[in-house]
Amino acid sequence: ALILGIESSCDETAAALVTSDRRILSHKLAGQEAAHAPYGGVVPEIAARAHADILSPLIESALAEAGVTLADVDAIAATAGPGLIGGVMVGLVTGKALAHASGKPLIAVNHLEGHALSPRLAEPDLAFPYLLLLVSGGHCQLLLVRGVGDHVRLATTIDDAAGEAFDKTAKLLGLGFPGGPAVERAAAQGDANAVSLPRPLMGSAEPHFSFAGLKSAVARAAQSGEHRAEDIAAAFQQAVIDCLIDRTRRAIGSAPGVTALVVAGGVAANQGVRSSLQSLAASYDLPFVAPPLWLCTDNAAMIAWAGAERLAAGLTDPLDTPARARWPLDPHAAPARGAGV
Ligand code: ATP
Ligand code: MG
Ligand code: FE
Repeated sequence: ALILGIESSCDETAAALVTSDRRILSHKLAGQEAAHAPYGGVVPEIAARAHADILSPLIESALAEAGVTLADVDAIAATAGPGLIGGVMVGLVTGKALAHASGKPLIAVNHLEGHALSPRLAEPDLAFPYLLLLVSGGHCQLLLVRGVGDHVRLATTIDDAAGEAFDKTAKLLGLGFPGGPAVERAAAQGDANAVSLPRPLMGSAEPHFSFAGLKSAVARAAQSGEHRAEDIAAAFQQAVIDCLIDRTRRAIGSAPGVTALVVAGGVAANQGVRSSLQSLAASYDLPFVAPPLWLCTDNAAMIAWAGAERLAAGLTDPLDTPARARWPLDPHAAPARGAGV
C-alpha cells in the first residue's frame, strides 16, 4: 500500500510518501527555525500560520517527487496529536479534506507512535516487543512497544524532557535555537570533566527521569562566569547521557524478553547518546536499533509509516476524529509523582 503522511505538530511542516514495503518515495520537510529564532523558542501562533501557508504546496511537491497523484494513494495518515494544537489542526484538517475528496481512508496518527514505530521503517527485522527510549523535545520515556497501538510506559520524566533540557542549555549558553545540535557541536570542543554537574535520579529505585535540577545547575555554572561554554556543554551532555543510560539499564532489568534496545526521537540524533546506548545494549547481548538521524527528528515519513502499520492492522479513523493537544501513548500509565506526562 502507498501512504501519504502529514506532520505539523511542532515547528516542522512535513509530507512524505511511503509504501508498506518500506520504500520512501519522497519526504519533504520545511523547518521554521528562522521564524522562531528571534523568540528563542517555538511560538504556537507563528507555527500554526506557517504550517497553513506551506503545507498544501509541500504535499503537492511530495506527490510530484514521488511521481504519483492522490488517486495512487491508498490512505492518508496525519498527525492528530499530541502537540501544539493550532499546528495539529492544520495538518489533520488537511488530511481529512484530502481523504474526503479522494474517498481514501484517514489514519489519525499519534505523533509519539510515529517516533515509536520509526525504527521499524529503518530496520525490517525489528520485531515486537522492544524496549524503546523515546527522547524528544517534549518527552523522555521508556516504553515497552508490544505492537501497533500497544505501548506500556515504564518510565517518564517528572519535570523536563531531555530535548527541552538541550534547548534550555543552548539558550543559557547563547548557542542559539534549536539547541540540540548546537550543544552537541559545542560539547565536541569542551572538557566534560571541567564542570561538575548533578545527575538527577541516577541510581534511584524509582524508574523515572528528571532534568530540572541539571538545568538549574547549568544556569548557575553559566552565570558564574568561571567556565567556558564548551566545557559546560560537554559536562551537560555527559550528565544527560549518564542519566539516560542509568535509567535505561534499570528498565532492561525489568523488561525481560525484549527483542532489542531501540532509541527514537530528536535527541536520538545525538552521537554520544547513540554510542552510549549501543554499548549498553552490547553489554546485555541485546541488538541495538537507532533510526538514521533524519528519521529521529520530526518528519512525515515516520507518520506515513505508522499509517502503513495501522492500515495493515485494519485501523482507520472517522473524519470527525479530533485534534488532541495531549495524547498519552499508554492511557493506563499511572502519573509519575502526580506530575508526569
Ligand atoms: P515531541 O516529539 O516530544 O512532541 P518534538 O517533536 O518537538 O517533541 P523532536 O523533533 O522529536 O521533538 O526532537 C526535537 C528535540 O531534539 C529538540 O529538543 C532538539 O534540541 C533535540 N535534538 C535534535 N538534535 C539533537 C542532537 N544532535 N543532540 C541532542 N538533542 C537534539
Ligand atoms: Mg523542530
Ligand atoms: Fe517529535
